[in-house]
Amino acid sequence: MLWPSKASHPRRLRDSARWLVILGALSWGPSADGLAREPAESARTILARPVTQGPQREALVQAYLHAHCPRQLASGSRITPRVVVIHWTGGRSLEGAWRYFNRLEAEPGRAELFRQGRLNVGTHFLVGTDGAVVQLLPEDVLARHAIGLNTSAIGIDMVGRRAQDLTDAQLDSVTWLVRQLATRHPIRQVVGHHETHLLEGSDAWCEDVPGYRSRKPDPGPDFMRRLRARLADLALDGGPGGRR
Ligand SMILES: [Zn+2]
Repeated sequence: MLWPSKASHPRRLRDSARWLVILGALSWGPSADGLAREPAESARTILARPVTQGPQREALVQAYLHAHCPRQLASGSRITPRVVVIHWTGGRSLEGAWRYFNRLEAEPGRAELFRQGRLNVGTHFLVGTDGAVVQLLPEDVLARHAIGLNTSAIGIDMVGRRAQDLTDAQLDSVTWLVRQLATRHPIRQVVGHHETHLLEGSDAWCEDVPGYRSRKPDPGPDFMRRLRARLADLALDGGPGGRR
């Protein structure tokens, strides 16, 4: 069954996304096998609610890659995910975050971001405070969410503005989602956005603009410590400063 029996998703999403889940199953495929192997988590599913794609976005990706990661130009927006980067959205609502990520072009008001490329920021998944998981982009399509890792990393954005906003339901869903992703891609590492600078120099890193770096606070060490404890059996790299 595609729809969880005890769904607590926001009504607007529940009403509007039912058909998108079915479409998503055709194109992206929530992992029925994975669900079957994990009965304790079988009530979860991914709601597919794609953001705008197409030739205009592809052109923005090409322009971004030309400046930031020319070695990826031949592959365009297609990536092989090897890393998962965990974020918070900086906002209170899943709907608002979705609308923000649905814009193709970055806000001119975010001057440095805009100067470094007109491709808007993006993410692959949003996770609501109730644990609802919404997919915005296919997992192998580049999203601009972490400097240096956009050509290798899937982004997961939890709705929230600070560490105290993050819920146990989000931790449960992110844990489940990372497990799903690890069945489909050669995921080696799960890191918080606040840790991504520590991967500079690894083969997952690609950022050719000198000095274009950032340090972010999300989602913070406490969340990553709890997530890593849940995922210990996957034997991923422990992340910066962690178990190798
Ligand atoms: Zn972030």
